[in-house]
Amino acid sequence: MARDTARDTARDVDLSPPPPSGGAGTRTAHRTCPLCEALCGLELTLDDAGTVIGVRGDRDDPFSKGFLCPKGATLGSLDGDPDRLAEPLLRGPDGHAPGDWDTAFATVGRELRRIVDEHGPDAVAVYLGNPSAHTVAAPLYGGAIIKALGTGNVYTASTADQMPKHVSSGHLFGDPMAVPVPDLDRTGHLLMLGANPLESNGSLCTAPDFPGRLKAIRARGGKVTVVDPRRTRTAALADEHVFVRPGTDAHLLMALVHTLFDEGLATPPQDVNGLADLRALADDFSPERVAPVTGVPADTTRRLARELAAAERAAVYGRIGTCTQAFGTLASWLVDVLNVLTGNLDRPGGAMFPKPAPLPAYRRKRPFTTGRRHSRVRGLPEVNGEFPVATLADEITTPGDGQIRALITIGGNPALSAPGAARLDAALAGLEFMVSVDPYLNETTRHAHVILPPPRPTQSPHFPLALLGFAVRDYARYSPPVSPLPEGRPSEAEILARLAVLASGLDGTPEALDEMIIGSTLGKAVAMAGSPVHGRDPGELREILAEQGASTVEQRLDMMVRLGPYGDGFGADPAGLTLHRLRTEHPHGIDLGALRPRLAEVLCTASGRIELCPPPFAADTARLRASLDGPAPELVLIGRRHLRSNNSWLHNVPELVRGSNTCTLQLNPDDAGRLGIAAGDRVRVTSRAGELEATAEPTDALMPGVVSLPHGWGHALPGTRARVAARNAGVNVNAVTDEQEIDPLSGNAVFNGVPVTVAPVT
Ligand code: SF4
Repeated sequence: MARDTARDTARDVDLSPPPPSGGAGTRTAHRTCPLCEALCGLELTLDDAGTVIGVRGDRDDPFSKGFLCPKGATLGSLDGDPDRLAEPLLRGPDGHAPGDWDTAFATVGRELRRIVDEHGPDAVAVYLGNPSAHTVAAPLYGGAIIKALGTGNVYTASTADQMPKHVSSGHLFGDPMAVPVPDLDRTGHLLMLGANPLESNGSLCTAPDFPGRLKAIRARGGKVTVVDPRRTRTAALADEHVFVRPGTDAHLLMALVHTLFDEGLATPPQDVNGLADLRALADDFSPERVAPVTGVPADTTRRLARELAAAERAAVYGRIGTCTQAFGTLASWLVDVLNVLTGNLDRPGGAMFPKPAPLPAYRRKRPFTTGRRHSRVRGLPEVNGEFPVATLADEITTPGDGQIRALITIGGNPALSAPGAARLDAALAGLEFMVSVDPYLNETTRHAHVILPPPRPTQSPHFPLALLGFAVRDYARYSPPVSPLPEGRPSEAEILARLAVLASGLDGTPEALDEMIIGSTLGKAVAMAGSPVHGRDPGELREILAEQGASTVEQRLDMMVRLGPYGDGFGADPAGLTLHRLRTEHPHGIDLGALRPRLAEVLCTASGRIELCPPPFAADTARLRASLDGPAPELVLIGRRHLRSNNSWLHNVPELVRGSNTCTLQLNPDDAGRLGIAAGDRVRVTSRAGELEATAEPTDALMPGVVSLPHGWGHALPGTRARVAARNAGVNVNAVTDEQEIDPLSGNAVFNGVPVTVAPVT
């Protein structure tokens, strides 16, 4: 792709000023990069004032080994961004104005209680955005806030990009969090669909230096195949790129399943349920039958299936492109069906289950189910305890019992990132009360009555609680803050803990909340057979946690590490990990080894076997079959990822809004010629849901019939305070995505395969 230049290929990129080499008045600190799922170790150089003046990859990190991308290299700019809020903002008649923390918390407590008392707990909704997954605080306190409110109105960014994978794992393996990852370092054959890790650096697959790991597959004689409607940078690196029509990955995957059965290539393990049912379902999806829909020639599909079956160690990996489509759950399911059918699930070089260090070894096993509740307006089923973000606007704007009147947002920017964003943006403006935990006054938080800004990344601890379960090697690293908090400034953990206390309506302190959670967790741990502390005295364990004199937040992390599979079990395994040991003996992180087979530990279906053909998926296959005969739109829209961008949250970093990171409408030159569009022309994109204008960029990287816009842009809205982003506003792709279109099994939004028309602006 012409716009992707060599300077974006990242190893040891340093976009910030070169760090002084140990000069007077500087110091070096090491920590995990909090900007994406790759978890690279960073070496920061800071001056006396705590300003980051240099960033390098941490060569001593055993996982990332010095890798760094342009985003990580600019952590200093993000950390020291002058637009980052340093104090709470309170909204008055003349807009937002700074306030003190006590007033801000008092306002939040008063308004939340008023609305709950008048309208019930469901009147207050919670939205957890994507940045939450990169903090310590949100995984520790997000659940406590929801529980304290007692609300059923929970929304997260998961229904914008990954819920199909959780639903798939929930039904296949019984645990929605048991997502197999490709064993990149040992596989000999990688088939990737809808994934572009050269730009994203990996998602639901934590692998620092993903590009290097892909190159290594090829260097050891393996093959990398990319299936994508766009010839991405990842596709360009691969041995083979196969164009597929957007939204038809499930058709192609079913044709691969069909071929494995048809040609006697399926070699699944014995202990799976549903094999015959699956085979019957796949009958209708021969490569020849699906080729007109997918655009993939039948002989190519058959060859891909044969190569997959013949490879000694192979993995199929599908990511965001396969999730954000009308058949997202079916596509996610069939990815792992292929891993099972080729005997590659849970074996080295195949698709494996990580074993994260903080995972409690005594997890309770419950059968997975969805639809325990339904959303009030559209009747959409609850999935993983939440409703689709695609229906958040409905729930705010539709009067009646249970109407959302107040909203808590923690990170994220749904006013830009949700489908049909303009409608949600207008709905947020009508809320009685909104509080946002966010460092910026952005397109979403401009509607908040109170904004509670967390401290800078360097003033915050980092422990990737939400991401270690997707790592391609077992690994752990704890990063304490590298700079102290200013006097009177609460940590992000304290902000969220205070929100939880305020939401409960009870008196209390963050420390008391932590104490309650520690007591409850230890109580369950000592009572549960199989726990490393089974039968011990919780009071004794509590004293052990207090020995290091750490904060109650760190004591909670310590408890999770000690109870986890590599932990010391509170002294039961003296060589095991503790948070203190991670901090003092492994400041660059610890490699806990290559992934090991552990399906037996993971499986928690009611049958105790892999459910290869769950009834909800089998039923939805009728919809897939019907679509084989449906009309194909002439033009469909897909998203696009840039290495220098991460959703909307890095667009105020000057270094990252230059270069290849541009918000253009890419389209195939044949389509451009047919529509009378030349490079640089302004074009209008129209869908059922709305329209937008963008600048055209013809490129043969797009397959004919497909146009592409990146997401996370559209920073021209008034009332924000992010000056760099406002100067590089771009256009919001979600002006044309449709909140009525979702994957019915997961509630995930449909961002890929949106039917559109494109015409020059006259
Ligand atoms: S790849 Fe991700 S974790 Fe690594 S430096 Fe870049 S943004 Fe940070």
